[in-house]
Amino acid sequence: MADAPRAGTGSVPGPSPRHDVVVVGGGIVGLAVVTALLDAGHTSVALVERESSLAAHQTGRNSNVIHSGLYYAPGSLKARLAVTGCAETKAFCAEQGLPYAECGKVVVATDDSERGRMAELVRRGRANGVEVHELDAAGVRDREPAVSAVAGLWVPSTGICDYEAITRRLAELAVARGATLHTGRAVRSAVRRRRDVVVHTDAGDLLAGQVVVCAGLRSDEIARASGFDPGVRTVPFRGEYSDLRGPKADAVRGLVYPVPDPAFPFLGVHATRGVDGSVHVGPNAVLALAREGYDWRTLRARELAGTLTDPGFLSLAARQWRYGLGEMHRSVSKAAMARAVSKMLPGTTAADLHPPHDVMRRAGVRAQAVRPDGSLVDDFLFVQDGSTAAAAADEPTVLHVLNAPSPAATAALPIGREIVARLEGKAVDTAVAS
Ligand SMILES: Cc1cc2nc3c(=O)[nH]c(=O)nc-3n(C[C@H](O)[C@H](O)[C@H](O)COP(=O)(O)OP(=O)(O)OC[C@H]3O[C@@H](n4cnc5c(N)ncnc54)[C@H](O)[C@@H]3O)c2cc1C
Repeated sequence: MADAPRAGTGSVPGPSPRHDVVVVGGGIVGLAVVTALLDAGHTSVALVERESSLAAHQTGRNSNVIHSGLYYAPGSLKARLAVTGCAETKAFCAEQGLPYAECGKVVVATDDSERGRMAELVRRGRANGVEVHELDAAGVRDREPAVSAVAGLWVPSTGICDYEAITRRLAELAVARGATLHTGRAVRSAVRRRRDVVVHTDAGDLLAGQVVVCAGLRSDEIARASGFDPGVRTVPFRGEYSDLRGPKADAVRGLVYPVPDPAFPFLGVHATRGVDGSVHVGPNAVLALAREGYDWRTLRARELAGTLTDPGFLSLAARQWRYGLGEMHRSVSKAAMARAVSKMLPGTTAADLHPPHDVMRRAGVRAQAVRPDGSLVDDFLFVQDGSTAAAAADEPTVLHVLNAPSPAATAALPIGREIVARLEGKAVDTAVAS
């Protein structure tokens, strides 16, 4: 998809049109920003997406879980916006007649060494206002009879949905309210001038008072091309899924998650019954060989070289190579993936795992910001080119969304409002923004 010709199908050649705000990226975060702008009274809003369809990358290729807010550091943007977003996503689906379910989830400790980390999850979840129930081994079996665990947590507010469908509906509603969508049009840069931001695209320029870049896997690239140092590099981590089929799948009632390793912002391989009733397991986390590298065959030498020579990535790799090798093994060996799953669902073998029929469900690539010292940016990261005072004073500004990994799909609607508040010079929560 990323290699599709950029024909600029949504553009009209001629003098550069001007909008109040241009949003770059047609994933769920971009559409949530457009929605929040319209709600705040902006009448001239355009969104530019380089693919021919919306939600083609992270938004259309994820676990489709509505996260509760359990995991995130109290006080962080992730905690605050996921808790609100969890309720709002369910309410939006209900109001719009889109598929979703509030099915709850079980987090399971498969051996005693995980009890300490599980206790920390309980502490974080309760500090974030999430309802969490502690379970003993029998309590886990009552919820999920096929699961083997020494202890667990029951989190009733977790849900499932279809983020691609939500994004498409947000787009339909936005267009009905007067927003302009340009698909099949790639943005090269967004450069601040004295009175405007000039958005350079492959089908001519657009002018805007303010620009919000929500370009997922390419956010840091657009920042650099715009002459703005993002201070981080976006590293693409692929997560692969398999369908669990047969009696093993039938035995899974809802969502079964491991206790995550706090060294990583990934939640670990889980089993999820989706809104279509099928059960998928995954995702693992391996370095993708291209920003949109959905399999081992997709390699772009320049992009890969950029990652492999980045000091932040090199420092991360030097510390975490052992973990990385384990994840790669699970990527290439179905038996190794089945062994990982069988820790929670005993008896799972490679024969129970199948490639999903829908190509969009086979893998997703996470856009994860890495700092020059090799640390992963844990929280959402929104950085403004132009001071917040400039935003309040109506001077041209560009706001770059530089880290919006999971749970940003869950949190998208409140993220949209947070970003609009920042554009208006309000609600800047810099203490937790990095
Ligand atoms: C494997 C996986 C599992 C996940 N599971 C969950 C989950 O269960 N629950 C949850 O809440 N979150 C989950 N997430 C995270 C969630 O998918 C993301 O946080 C969210 O989709 C981010 O949305 P976005 O709009 O920022 O990015 P994206 O959906 O990636 O959208 C960015 C858009 O920008 C466009 N773009 C890029 N460059 C340009 C350019 N130059 N010009 C114009 N457009 C451009 C892209 O084509 C793309 O459409 C998961 C992510 C992955 C990868």
